[in-house]
Amino acid sequence: MGSAATNISSATTITSINPATGEALGEVPVMTPEQVKAAVDAARAAQRDWAKLPIETRCRRVAKFADVLMSRAEETIDLLVREAGKTRLEALGMEVIITADLTRYFVKHAPEMLEPEPIPLHLMKHRASYLHFVPRGVVGVIAPWNFPFSIPLGETIMALIAGNGVVIKPSEVTPLIALKAKELYLAAELPPDLLQVVTGRGPTGAALIDSGIDYCVFTGSVATGKKVAVACGERLIPCTLELGGKAPAIVCGDADLERAAQAIVWGGFANSGQVCASVERVYAVDSIHDALVERVVKHAKEVRQGDASHSQDVDMGAMSWDQQVNNVEKLVDAAAGAGAKVETGGKRKPGAGMFFEPTVLSGCKQEMDVMRKEIFGPVIPIMRVQTEDEAVKLANDSHLGLLAYVFTRDRERGKRLAERIEAGTVMINDVLNTYGCPETPWGGVKQSGIGRTHSIIGLRDMCETRHVNYDRVALGREVWWYPYKEGTFRALLRGARLLFGKRPWQR
Ligand code: NDP
Repeated sequence: MGSAATNISSATTITSINPATGEALGEVPVMTPEQVKAAVDAARAAQRDWAKLPIETRCRRVAKFADVLMSRAEETIDLLVREAGKTRLEALGMEVIITADLTRYFVKHAPEMLEPEPIPLHLMKHRASYLHFVPRGVVGVIAPWNFPFSIPLGETIMALIAGNGVVIKPSEVTPLIALKAKELYLAAELPPDLLQVVTGRGPTGAALIDSGIDYCVFTGSVATGKKVAVACGERLIPCTLELGGKAPAIVCGDADLERAAQAIVWGGFANSGQVCASVERVYAVDSIHDALVERVVKHAKEVRQGDASHSQDVDMGAMSWDQQVNNVEKLVDAAAGAGAKVETGGKRKPGAGMFFEPTVLSGCKQEMDVMRKEIFGPVIPIMRVQTEDEAVKLANDSHLGLLAYVFTRDRERGKRLAERIEAGTVMINDVLNTYGCPETPWGGVKQSGIGRTHSIIGLRDMCETRHVNYDRVALGREVWWYPYKEGTFRALLRGARLLFGKRPWQR
């Protein structure tokens, strides 16, 4: 429930608001369950013909979406800046380029990734098996407001290429961007009904799950993810859940401190800290702790915050959602009250617009909420640790496990530490960026979610994996069929002993 929406939950429209100025940008309908069902049915009807096209044809047609997106990049960026409070560079890099690259990547590689895959059979050599990948039907994509373009569009492109229809439910905070995506899609001359956008609030998302979709890709909070899992479970619809994160950054004694400090500042503040992979807590070993804090604070103070719609020279835009500003303020106040030192920032900016100052906290303790709960705002809490082992233990002391970061000059040491951290992805000497690598899987462990998006795994999840088993050699009958005979039993036992019993060298 964002301020971007009217506060009356029964209202039939949502007013989209510019979070940097408070200006109203437009209205969208709150779609009823009947309208959502009609959208799913229309996508399904269009999907039947789409699925019949060879995948190469689907790829060729989807490729045009990237062309249109790049030729209309400025208008897409303008809207991302105005509706989501982003900076222009972030709108370009984290939304437009990521989506165009993902499109190009899957257009090029999906035909091979979805080729039938033979399975060598272990025992039954006279038979053979293969997997083939069949579109699921209609994929429901329920999306958050923090990356309102690249998240739903990434899922949509993969789903379409795999032969599905798609219905997107955007966040009520950023509906206009989803409608812009549909406009670009139509300009790419893709089948109009195959992609639908249903606008509304939470109940519209719930209605989507209840409208006969075949697969749900949900990205959002842990709390809503649990509701989505229950709703999908009741209907036995498979789902992928991309949920919250609390990414730790471990800074080792041998780290390149300047690189680590810059990465932490960017990783903590990019998109105003509203990234599921944001650096949400830093564990710095004692030997470099003070020097690291000094550098992080220095870089944090250099971050220029403001309304990016009037200037390219803004590093951090507005937060997208007023409730999020309240959450951040509460967490920072509580940490300061419990003894953390506010090194810089620490409060919301007065006046119109949803801005929270870029904030660095030192002296944090593991039991503080700021170290345990997802902040989802521009706050970097730092804690001193004695050893890397302590840092790994504390990093794993979390109910979340999406991303994690390790800074060290020793690559092998970095890998050893990375493999001990409970997270879907661990990056060494870098932050955030693998979301922009469509070839790598994205997703969390523990309560950060279920399943993976992107990569061959995410693409194949857009399909039902079906198995065909056939005969390589034509036999009249199998030896273990009826009638059962003593001779058959003895022959099978002899054969099994030869195959599975101890080998002479093991005796
Ligand atoms: P929410 O969980 O509040 O909402 C996500 C989407 O679900 C929105 O479209 C929302 O609609 C919709 N929704 C709400 N209630 C229901 C329901 N009962 N059934 C179906 N859909 C529903 O998340 P936010 O939008 O606040 O996003 C922020 C969260 O997303 C953070 O926790 C962040 O970490 C996570 N996230 C995870 C990512 C990942 O890859 N793992 C990436 C990006 C964000 P509405 O907004 O209209 O209420």
